[in-house]
Formats: sequence, C-alpha cells, structure tokens
Amino acid sequence: NLDLELVSLTKRYGNTVAVDAISYHFGTGTYACLLGPSGCGKSSTLRMIAGHESVSEGSVLLGHRDISHRPPAKRGTAMMFQNYALFPHLSVADNVAFSLKMQGKDAAHRKTRAMEMLELVDMVALADRLPAQLSGGQQQRAALARALITQPDVLLLDEPLSALDPFLRIRMRAELKKLQRELGITFIHVTHGQDEALALADEIVVMNNARIEQAGQTRQVFDAP
Ligand code: ADP
Ligand code: ADP
Repeated sequence: NLDLELVSLTKRYGNTVAVDAISYHFGTGTYACLLGPSGCGKSSTLRMIAGHESVSEGSVLLGHRDISHRPPAKRGTAMMFQNYALFPHLSVADNVAFSLKMQGKDAAHRKTRAMEMLELVDMVALADRLPAQLSGGQQQRAALARALITQPDVLLLDEPLSALDPFLRIRMRAELKKLQRELGITFIHVTHGQDEALALADEIVVMNNARIEQAGQTRQVFDAP
C-alpha cells in the first residue's frame, strides 16, 4: 500500500495562507489532476508533497509513513517542472543520470539505468545531445526520464505541458497517460486547464482559495451541477 494521504496540510507565507488545512487521500496508481485558478495553492501543495517547501502544519503520509520532514530525495516522490530545468552543459544521458551520480552510483550503472529510462520515453537516439539541441517535447521527455530514474512511488508534475505548442500538448497528454499506466505509479498533475484534467485524470481535486472545493472521480466532478 503506497497510498498518499494529505492530513490538514497547511502552508503559510507570512500572513498569506496559501494552503488551508487540506485533507485528501490519493489511492495507489491513480492519475490525479489538481485543478484550479492561478494562486489557489496548487504549486504550494505539490511542493510540500515533494519536500521542496516546508509544511507549516499537518502532514504528508506515503504508505502510512509520515514523510513530511524527509528531504526530497528520500520520500519516494519525484517532481517534474514546467520549465524542465535540465542542466544546459550536461548531455541528455548525464541529465537523466544526475540523481544517481549524487547517490554515488558508478558510471556503468548510471549509463545502463539512464538508457533504460530514455528507452521508456523513446529518446535513446538523443542520449548524447545537449538540452539546447532538443525540441520542447524532447526536453520534456528528458525531464520525465530524469524524474523517473529515482523509481518514485509518486510522480508530481507542475504544469508539465503548458510550455508546449497546442499540437504537441495533445500528443504529450497521450504519452503521459500511457507511461503512467505502464508504470502503475501515482501521478499528481497540476494544471489550470479543465480540458487537460478531463483528458488525463482518473480523479480530480479542484482547489479554490487555498482549499479543496470539490474532489472525486473525473466524471462525477465534471457532471456535477
Ligand atoms: P498556484 O500554483 O495555484 O498558482 P501557488 O501555490 O503558487 O498557487 O500560490 C498560492 C498563494 O501563495 C498565492 O497567493 C501566491 O502568491 C502565494 N505564494 C506562493 N509562493 C510564495 C512564496 N514563495 N512566498 C510568498 N507567497 C507565495
Ligand atoms: P505559478 O506558475 O504556479 O503561478 P508563480 O509564477 O506564481 O507560479 O511563482 C513562481 C515562483 O515564485 C514560485 O517559486 C513561487 O514560490 C514564487 N512566488 C509566487 N508568488 C509569490 C509571492 N507572492 N511572493 C514571493 N514569491 C512568490
């Protein structure tokens, strides 16, 4: 059981309450979209789950263990960002293997694992390129491979498609969904696009004003009056 549970999770920045005591249970292997207008607290929620932002109050449980105070690399989560954040001076393969290098894994092991991940996202032929030599969609696939190499139980995606042109966005949706199904891990995908959430999500959590306004299976949420 690797269910992810948010318990009264709260984030304050000074006097701003960005996330106001939200509680939610994500079942293992679900594709969830966190939907809502700009400034409603989506990114802050995601960053607290990932450990990139401290928790003001409440907790994050993964498989019933409190991971709230663990460093990002030791939580069983990984995060993929909007702007990819690839290191410009490293090859695609070295970018993908970066976290393994930090863990002190040897070069042969890193190479093998990086190529496995690149195979998963159909990028093996581009392993030796620099990020600047990739298209937007290819950079996004490389960023995905880099997040997945840590074998996370939960992948957190912050507006992963918003920098892509409309045609590519639709195609990458299908690729994300397929990958999530193959891996069987939990995806939590932040978006402000209703159509994106409808196309991808098994379940949808709608945030507004730092709170959860509505949540449930995708069809129930969209069919609600
Ligand atoms: P969303 O991802 O839904 O756009 P955010 O979580 O980024 O929302 O922001 C929620 C609220 O918290 C907003 O009012 C935003 O201005 C504020 N906020 C976010 N990050 C910070 C920060 N680092 N310092 C101060 N306020 C922040
Ligand atoms: P989003 O794309 O979710 O709207 P923003 O562009 O609002 O994110 O925020 C980008 C960065 O700026 C984030 O790291 C966030 O923490 C920070 N930030 C957002 N709002 C504020 C704020 N009011 N004060 C300080 N930092 C903020």
